[in-house]
Amino acid sequence: MTYISTRGNPDAVSFSEAVTLGLAPDGGLFVPASFPRFEVTDFDGRDSLPAIAQTLIRPFFAGDALAGELDAICEDAFSFPVPLNVVDENATNPVRVLELFHGPTAAFKDVGARFLAACLQRSAGASVDDPLLILVATSGDTGGAVAAAFHNRPGIDVGVLFPKGLVSPRQEQQLTCWGGNVKAFRVSGVFDDCQRMVKAAFANEAFTQRRRLSSANSINVGRLLPQMAYYAASSLWCLRETGKAPSYIVPTGNLGNALACVWARHVGLPIDRIVLATNANRTIPDFLASGEWSPRDSVATLASAMDVGNPSNAERLRHLFPDSGELATKLRAGWVDDDHIRQRIASDFGRGADAWCPHTATAMELYARMSDEDRASAPWIAVATAHPAKFETVVEPLIGQTLPVPAALAELLDRPAHAVDIAPDLDVLLSHL
Ligand SMILES: *Cc1c(COP(=O)(O)O)cnc(C)c1O
Repeated sequence: MTYISTRGNPDAVSFSEAVTLGLAPDGGLFVPASFPRFEVTDFDGRDSLPAIAQTLIRPFFAGDALAGELDAICEDAFSFPVPLNVVDENATNPVRVLELFHGPTAAFKDVGARFLAACLQRSAGASVDDPLLILVATSGDTGGAVAAAFHNRPGIDVGVLFPKGLVSPRQEQQLTCWGGNVKAFRVSGVFDDCQRMVKAAFANEAFTQRRRLSSANSINVGRLLPQMAYYAASSLWCLRETGKAPSYIVPTGNLGNALACVWARHVGLPIDRIVLATNANRTIPDFLASGEWSPRDSVATLASAMDVGNPSNAERLRHLFPDSGELATKLRAGWVDDDHIRQRIASDFGRGADAWCPHTATAMELYARMSDEDRASAPWIAVATAHPAKFETVVEPLIGQTLPVPAALAELLDRPAHAVDIAPDLDVLLSHL
């Protein structure tokens, strides 16, 4: 298996090279040169997430230096449960919720970050004498997950950039509580500024000669493969239970999580429809409706980890389906404003459901807006991307209660924090690295 750039540079690289480089040399994103094809029966006798992940990811590692380590990497990375729960068993069309928030930082990004860390630690790139520098822009959750996953892994340094004042206090704590090999930068700008600075650092030759760089945000292909694994596992669990392939609603920002779902369906997992739920940053719903790609500045919303105006992974999606007419038949999308996020959290909780984080609430809101016919057409799985206690300042006033904090998160909240304040200026950033 080799990986190629979305921008047409014909040089193919191995999985390990794609992961270490992060971004392709022509500025594109790495995608598999060809996708393997699975039958449902390929997963017979495999039920746990790590076991399903090993089968799914094996062809993507074929011929790579890490191929022999895949089983160990899966055991290291998939170290926490990913439960699929039914909400309201008595409803005619109960929705299932795939809870991706049981990792160390209580959001789905722990899955990809831990897998990537497990890979990089075992790769030739990690070096105690000349540490690999993982540079990552975050709208909130990526950075914490990456920091947690890489903290204290030898031979690797981490620089995390986040937009000042645009992440929740608990998210900020998770970005800044590490020290050691992890440095946090509080940028006076928005997420797109942080992302631009990271891209500019990669493109800066003087800097890349001084430091070996790698990315760990959702543009790294090493994050996408493990995310496919929870779609593979949950779709198989649901098929085995109901006899039907499920459809998914995925809260979407930079499009990494949803792209993994698209890839999982593309390689043959039993996945019916895929609906993307965004907040008021509606670049993707507008694109699917009009066929025209018009990225724009992001706007701040309650679902802050999805405040992305120019979703990077759209480039991979459009590489897979270059014809926007065909793409529009593969996906649906809708967007949810802050008022409806608030209402959905309050009303579902009032009906006895769990409290949703604001991101998960966008998916629940789109489910609530569907026709009965749509809801009856397949078992629907809404993807829960974060624990509500991570966004307690939004959620607690809406439900009128204090949320219990998961144990792993509570431990991080007690640690001392430190960040470097910087302007959105590449030279300033590089001077600190
Ligand atoms: C990152 C994030 C999202 C968006 O995921 P993408 O892969 O960027 O589309 C949604 N919800 C939460 C809680 C997140 O942290």
